[in-house]
Amino acid sequence: MRQPKRSTSAMKLAPQPTASFTLHGAGVSGGIAIGYAHLVSTARLEVAHYDIASDAIEEEISRFDAAISEVRSELIGLQASVSASAPAEVSAFLNVHLMILDDAHLSRRPRELIRSRGCNAEWALTQQMEMLVQQFDEIEDAYLRERKNDIVQVAERVLKAMLRTSHAPASPSHEENVIVVAHDLSPADMILFKQHQFAGFVTDLGGVTSHTAIVARSLNIPAIVGLHHARGLIRENELLIVDGREGVLIVNPDRQVLAEFQLRQSQLDIERRKLKSLRSTPATTLDGIPIELHANIELPQDVNAAIEAGATGIGLFRSEFLFLNRDDLPGEDEQFEAYRKVAEAMDGRPVTIRTLDLGADKTVNGGSRAGPNPALGLRAIRFCLAEPQMFQVQLRAILRASNYGKIRILVPMLAHVHEIDQAMGAIAQAKEQLDDLGLHYDHAINVGGMIEIPAAAMSLGVFVKKLDFLSIGTNDLTQYTLAIDRSDDTVAHLYDPLHPAVLQLIAQTIQVGEKAGRPVAVCGEMAGELAATRLLLGFGLREFSMHPAQLLEIKQQVLRANAAEAQGFARRILRNDDPDKCRRLLARLNS
Ligand code: PEP
Ligand code: MG
Repeated sequence: MRQPKRSTSAMKLAPQPTASFTLHGAGVSGGIAIGYAHLVSTARLEVAHYDIASDAIEEEISRFDAAISEVRSELIGLQASVSASAPAEVSAFLNVHLMILDDAHLSRRPRELIRSRGCNAEWALTQQMEMLVQQFDEIEDAYLRERKNDIVQVAERVLKAMLRTSHAPASPSHEENVIVVAHDLSPADMILFKQHQFAGFVTDLGGVTSHTAIVARSLNIPAIVGLHHARGLIRENELLIVDGREGVLIVNPDRQVLAEFQLRQSQLDIERRKLKSLRSTPATTLDGIPIELHANIELPQDVNAAIEAGATGIGLFRSEFLFLNRDDLPGEDEQFEAYRKVAEAMDGRPVTIRTLDLGADKTVNGGSRAGPNPALGLRAIRFCLAEPQMFQVQLRAILRASNYGKIRILVPMLAHVHEIDQAMGAIAQAKEQLDDLGLHYDHAINVGGMIEIPAAAMSLGVFVKKLDFLSIGTNDLTQYTLAIDRSDDTVAHLYDPLHPAVLQLIAQTIQVGEKAGRPVAVCGEMAGELAATRLLLGFGLREFSMHPAQLLEIKQQVLRANAAEAQGFARRILRNDDPDKCRRLLARLNS
């Protein structure tokens, strides 16, 4: 007999007679969500907690043992199938995972917990995993500390195996009424949440341009990050209001507050529906300048939302998301199919595929080398150049897909000219291999570079000679200019894309690109910020790329803007290095 600890079914949104309180964080995506809290642990899978009757304890322990054996066989099988082109770390990582799996902390201790607490096996394993993660968090050595991720990954495998034999009470059937409350979520976790239809998300950690926040935004549901204590203060099933515009979370609202937010929510819905009528309206400013509004996507299926929003191209396909949440690497054919799907769906409109930007907060199981400062380490093009075989596989897949649409290659995180030369050399090599095989591709494929490191923005003269187009990554450009880790909520208040130094670099990049006849886009989060649209138009930007959910609002802003007038304001803002004055001028431009 198993009894659920709590039930999340039969939900009716009603205020609860418990104390109400408010938490403040950083709003990640617009809109208001009202629903019931569902606490998730550091494990990516949601773990049910229920009691096991004393006569069923041995059976539950056998279920746990069976899952451990199944995962052991899986890992041994994977080890045998690792291809020669996989980075050397993949094999080493599988060894480490086997060792972790067989360690008594994971394979024996949960059995004791099942017996002593009478709880289900998933819960026992998660408790033990969280305890180990906490211990690892306290280790000073950065390399050893990061091994906690391996523990989580092994535990997740076992949890997945147990899912198949789960006796858990039905999970909430009303996902649209559920607000996920987590201490932290990785970009890979967020991608898994794409398969669900939760009402909202809140997390204790994270900054507004962390990749976790970026994926939350692409889910188009209200979310708040950097709440600090939400996970500790909120209880399962408490009623929550998430105001993703203001970054305010109201716990247990009273009847009046609830009614007020329900009204605001329906007003926002009406506005959103009205915006849909702009879908096929060309984005042209009041003074007749045509503007390209492209979409950012993470997975091939996101292309539907881009088309739905009327995007005239894909300005950024973050291809590394194809590599997350798996223990093998996607092969050439799998990648080719993913890229081809997007190219065909866009039907001749440009599709900008960014080569792998792995590293920092996006890590492939076993294939990345975090280093002491991941954001400054072996990330993006640096990682690809260090793993030439893996890079070749991706380049061949992209080139083959270029036969099915207008694909452009975008290289992230360039700082040195020799990195462009090496990337170009790799592309030439991939082309030669396809020629040898007689496979077709676009011989004149455009290759562009992301401008997201100040050094690149300041040595553009050489860059534009070697690249066909530029795309400004304002998220990283801000991070690297201001020396603020974009995923660290403790310094999030200092992260400011409107800092005069960042604005100078953006404006300069647009200007140099224009003079050299190289198209320039902005594909960082700033492109989807209503407050920045006029300013960017004033700098001369003609191509914006953002999440599909932001596109129609930005189009409305473009339709109401006068580019010539914006240019006057933009010049005055650039002449200023006083941030307060800049903000006042920007407020006037937007008023
Ligand atoms: C950026 O840095 O602005 C960007 C678009 O790339 P990412 O957010 O994926 O780092
Ligand atoms: Mg970037």
